[in-house]
Amino acid sequence: MLQKYFARCETCEEKFVLRIGVGHAAVQPVVFACPHCNSSLRGVLSVDYKNIVAKLESSDCLFFSCGRESKEPDKGVNLYTDVPVPVECQGRSLVEGGSAFMALMPRLGIYLEDLSIQKDMMQHFVHDFLPAVRRSSSLYLNENWKPLRKQLAKIEMIDGDKPVPVPQISFGFNETLLTMLIPISSGYCVGYRFNFFLKLFKDLRSNDGKNLRQLIDTYYNEFNFNLFKKQTIETIIKCFEHYDAIVAGLYYEYILLNTDGNCGKLQIFRDDFQLLKSLYIDIYELSMKSLSFIGPIFNLYYRNDCKKWSNGECYSLKKFGKLKAHEKEFVFMNDMNLCDNYNMLDRKIRNKIGHNSISYDFLSSKLVAENGYEINVLDFIKSYSMATRILHILHLIQWMISENQYYKIKTT
Ligand SMILES: [Zn+2]
Repeated sequence: MLQKYFARCETCEEKFVLRIGVGHAAVQPVVFACPHCNSSLRGVLSVDYKNIVAKLESSDCLFFSCGRESKEPDKGVNLYTDVPVPVECQGRSLVEGGSAFMALMPRLGIYLEDLSIQKDMMQHFVHDFLPAVRRSSSLYLNENWKPLRKQLAKIEMIDGDKPVPVPQISFGFNETLLTMLIPISSGYCVGYRFNFFLKLFKDLRSNDGKNLRQLIDTYYNEFNFNLFKKQTIETIIKCFEHYDAIVAGLYYEYILLNTDGNCGKLQIFRDDFQLLKSLYIDIYELSMKSLSFIGPIFNLYYRNDCKKWSNGECYSLKKFGKLKAHEKEFVFMNDMNLCDNYNMLDRKIRNKIGHNSISYDFLSSKLVAENGYEINVLDFIKSYSMATRILHILHLIQWMISENQYYKIKTT
């Protein structure tokens, strides 16, 4: 959806044309520079996709209609929130080459197809499944199985006519969420991990059921597993609500791959970095926490003792929980080839932005933290988008551990 506004800058009172390539999130905070005085102008774009309407509100500029006789302002701004915009398209009309999509095509090269598939799938899942998943999530977290069964039957994830046992209802909900995560990671990767975890837990249930149950009970009673489960589900849903940021990161990642980094200057007009930053930190913290839950399961599976770690040491779950992030990393290095996903998390960025407020300097395209740390905004978005690829593992961990509570385990 493309929109055109005539605007007057409240700083310099000059007029310009504002062309907006409307992105996919319902609410999109935007920032751009006045083409006359260069001051940063902010606003919020609200999109109603059902009725195909978008509305931009801003206290930094005034919008007006241009009469047929009067001349359009000469200068313009082209605004996109989920696409990096090459600076050469800036301010131009479509006829003059102002379309960011057209300008990006040669930069994306062979990756254009992959990107389009991922983007379309995400869009489809968000529009078709996200509202139902959001409604179902509290039922799942509160273990309200009957109403959850009804909800899932509506989106045809389980057979609503038959009485369904609890593990199957949980499976229906979790499977839907995992399917949604496929375009963020990759189908192969998600399928591989899923089968790996499924087999691991099945083997443990039949070979060491008593210890598995005991360990899972400890997670719930002493390590607040319910909180991890809740935070994981909520973080995934929040990331989907802002999936346009993931799309923007994918664009940039593919462009860098295809051009070897020589892609020219690109800009982005999002203004939601506080939100992305907190999601980034949540994903990072949850990933580190997840090691305290999956680590002892690996210990049990590979070494028959939940306290025997893969670095050769033997210590309690509590002691492991207290280790620093980098000291916990051996778990994903040693026991299972999870490195690909955990390595997507940038500890350096997390540490630099974690305790600081961060502000976006639109003119220099940089995010600047209080401690002086600076990062190019597109690099940050790319890093955020890559971090979301670990969500399917966090999801599998919460799913498998909680679901194994609902099975009858042979304890003799
Ligand atoms: Zn101005």
